[in-house]
Amino acid sequence: MDYSKLVKYYQELEKTTKRLEKTKIIAELLKKTPDEHLEKIIFLLEGRIFPKWDERKTGISSRLLIKAINSSTGVPNEKIEKEWVKKGDLGEVVEELIKTKKQTTLFSKKLTITKVFENIRKLSELEGQGTISKKIQLITELFTSSTPEEARFIARTVIEDLRIGVKEGVIRDAIVWAFLPRVKGINEEGTKTKPKKITKLKNSDLKFKLIETEDPRKTYNELSSKVEHAYNLTNDYAEVALAAKKHKLNKLFMQVGKPINPMLAIKAESPEDAFKHLGKPALLEYKLDGFRLQIHKNGDEIKLFTRRLENVTKQFEEIMPTIRSHVKVKSCILDSELVGFDPKTKHYLPFQNISKRIKRKYDIGKKSKELPVEINVFDIIQKDNETLIDKTQEERRKILEKIIKQEKTKIILTKKLVTSSEKELNKFYKESLKKGNEGIMIKNLKAKYIPGRRVGGWLKLKPVKETLDLIIVAADWGEGKRAKWLSSFTIACRDKNKLLTIGKVGTGIAEKDSELTFEKLTKELKPSIKEKKGKQVILKPKIILEISYDEIQKSPTYTSKFALRFPRVIKLRSDLGFNDIDTLERVEKFYKQQNK
Ligand code: AMP
Repeated sequence: MDYSKLVKYYQELEKTTKRLEKTKIIAELLKKTPDEHLEKIIFLLEGRIFPKWDERKTGISSRLLIKAINSSTGVPNEKIEKEWVKKGDLGEVVEELIKTKKQTTLFSKKLTITKVFENIRKLSELEGQGTISKKIQLITELFTSSTPEEARFIARTVIEDLRIGVKEGVIRDAIVWAFLPRVKGINEEGTKTKPKKITKLKNSDLKFKLIETEDPRKTYNELSSKVEHAYNLTNDYAEVALAAKKHKLNKLFMQVGKPINPMLAIKAESPEDAFKHLGKPALLEYKLDGFRLQIHKNGDEIKLFTRRLENVTKQFEEIMPTIRSHVKVKSCILDSELVGFDPKTKHYLPFQNISKRIKRKYDIGKKSKELPVEINVFDIIQKDNETLIDKTQEERRKILEKIIKQEKTKIILTKKLVTSSEKELNKFYKESLKKGNEGIMIKNLKAKYIPGRRVGGWLKLKPVKETLDLIIVAADWGEGKRAKWLSSFTIACRDKNKLLTIGKVGTGIAEKDSELTFEKLTKELKPSIKEKKGKQVILKPKIILEISYDEIQKSPTYTSKFALRFPRVIKLRSDLGFNDIDTLERVEKFYKQQNK
């Protein structure tokens, strides 16, 4: 299959911002793609070469790409950089340069999908001396045989910034449209037509071409959730697409070594509320303030993934021996919280302390002594090739208790209590908070493990944090489809008459159809622009926002010397004035309270 064919689809996708149109375009491409290219096409549509959790990366920076453009076009680096500043996209730069060059050389060998894919994949395999020049050579080879349009997308793929606006949900829907049976009554615009006959959907129905049902929307949702479920188990749409095409979605299983999307929890309003939702008795566990760690053990081989499926195996190498010696099964997938503790006092430390270790690439051994961690296991997802997600919470916990040899500061099971009593729940909750934990988890004893979903099986109970009213003092222009809006807002608290920055927020603001959109905020703020600094604008303080957050951290980045973790806009506070902006004193007070 020629790469030029894919490029035509990329261009179609670039032309529209509408999700449905994008879905249709991709579905059409998927249907036309031969089996042997399907996985590659999915990866290339996602703008990657490996699944997102894979530790292999192309490792190409914009600087290196500039060198490759230089080597294939002969244009000096400085000129390429100038054009880059002008256009803001190295893809467009190389397209333009190759267009000029091609008029004179007129040389072109047809690029295939396989060639592009393999050359980019090879980038991740190179090691040792001469790596850089070999990488440049691999990219140059692609550029010299590509048309200008092809070069644009090759460049963007290489630096993992494809810019065609295709989100995960679109790929999922396109797989449904391309390979799953049509539901009579739902067309591609999502409009309904009158149904006739009722056919109940069973697993084996995936082989049918057309399903007629009383409630087409529901049936359609059931079909797409099969694709979603397969994805939650594999986190690899390439694999899911191929299985869907071959009617083998039900044969897709999780595998040790490939992370699955972890089960999530929803908020309980109060202890009473928890029992009401989950029934009695329920399993209570400490909710620890560390980070989620999925442990994949296959014999002595171990892989570790975060909640967002980042591979952190290297960063936490020191826990390997513990897993090998204290987990008494050959292979398994465990769900746990990794908690940092003070090496002297052995007291747990808040997440922010070990968060530094997640992205760390150097001095890993040294950091593991300064910031040691304890594994708190709370679930088991697979054991010796048997999938356990359909077993109940109670059964899974029992299995877990049998296979973990607990040792304080190394690996333990989360502290638990099974109870029907609100009084005991309250006591357990207070005890957990007193120990410095975030709160408690409340789990339905009969719940299955549902990957990637916030379904009622797990609830979390933690103290409600006070919100802060903060004022916008600067903002950044967005990128891609948000380019015409200010999309990230620097917020500040007050210290007497001075404003001190404390973070940047973009979450909680909608793209459209809401009281608070980027468009409305941009319109309001534009007249207050005092100064422009690249993509940032400095503003006369005018708009106050109510902000919630997960935590207050110390930070050298902002002038208040604090930063908000996961800030989120709750609402616009046009009812407030300058004197109502929350003070640095209050921020300090909340900071101390949370660290008690
Ligand atoms: P939240 O991040 O507030 O949505 O809470 C869910 C997170 O709590 C999970 O992703 C885990 O990282 C963490 N957590 C801490 N203790 C537990 C536990 N006992 N069971 C499940 N999750 C836990």
